[in-house]
Amino acid sequence: MGNAPDTIKHCLSSEQLVQDYPWLRRWLLEEKTLSGHEYPKFVKVVEVGPRDGLQNEKEILPTGVKIQLIDMLSGSGLPVIEATSFVSSKWVPQMADHTDVLRGIQRAPHVQYPVLTPNIQGFQDAVAAGASEVAVFGSVSETFSKKNINCTIDESMLRFQDVINAAKEQKIPVRGYISCALGCPYEGHMEPSKVAEVAKRLYGMGCYEISLGDTIGVGTPGSMLKMLQSVMKEVPANALAVHCHDTYGQALPNILTALQMGICVVDSAVAGLGGCPYAQGSSGNVATEDVLYMLNGMGIETGVNLAKVIEAGDFICCALQRKTNSKVAQARGDGL
Ligand SMILES: [Zn+2]
Repeated sequence: MGNAPDTIKHCLSSEQLVQDYPWLRRWLLEEKTLSGHEYPKFVKVVEVGPRDGLQNEKEILPTGVKIQLIDMLSGSGLPVIEATSFVSSKWVPQMADHTDVLRGIQRAPHVQYPVLTPNIQGFQDAVAAGASEVAVFGSVSETFSKKNINCTIDESMLRFQDVINAAKEQKIPVRGYISCALGCPYEGHMEPSKVAEVAKRLYGMGCYEISLGDTIGVGTPGSMLKMLQSVMKEVPANALAVHCHDTYGQALPNILTALQMGICVVDSAVAGLGGCPYAQGSSGNVATEDVLYMLNGMGIETGVNLAKVIEAGDFICCALQRKTNSKVAQARGDGL
């Protein structure tokens, strides 16, 4: 295949290029045929393993292991690592050591370490522990919202408004999660317009980025496309992220679809951590290693060193005494 020189491509549209430089026609046509889509040049990979992943693992790890995991991930070049959750230890005992984790990590320059803050109390505790970015976690499904965070969607929005207002005062960025964006374990199919409505509310309240979660991994490129088309009418693509679980083996195609739609932020977890092996309909996050392998193969930059993420995955799987969920890590074995 041929590649039109980047310097030229930056300045002119394809049509103008072909008009001015007829000899480029073949290159441009080949590129169009091969890719068929415009992909982002750079994708921000948001590592959610230490929070979303470990929170859903049965095993409760020592604080030092969590800190070492985050430090190893920091050394890989990942730009964002969700570190922990300031939720009550009564509900999530896996995250009871949130303050010690956040205080114990070696913060790398240019890396963000957001933490989950479900309410104002969690936000205040997080700030006291040194959090410089926080996240709130809502749902499109009323039933999931009640079972997961013990309140209706409207009630959750009121709690988030408190967190977001307090965060604004302290100039702390807030990320918003939406769970069940492609399906709910209790309510089944979720209407794309409902996802768009919740996304619009969170964005309007001041979340700088909305992560659309296929929490139970039932989505396909078909449902991802429809959902994003609906959401992108309300929230610009550059303020959206996708968060895919791999229950039905659809996470990578779903992410690819999102990239084709102009999304350039992808959540993933080292070793595909997360998901409860005892609950049907729950499975791990897409593995960071697998996302990186795909993006590397597409020539999309991430700034992340895949080998170092695989090392971090080996470390945490050893600590949890479980097998990695990453196909790439399985394929590479010890032969790095
Ligand atoms: Zn997840």
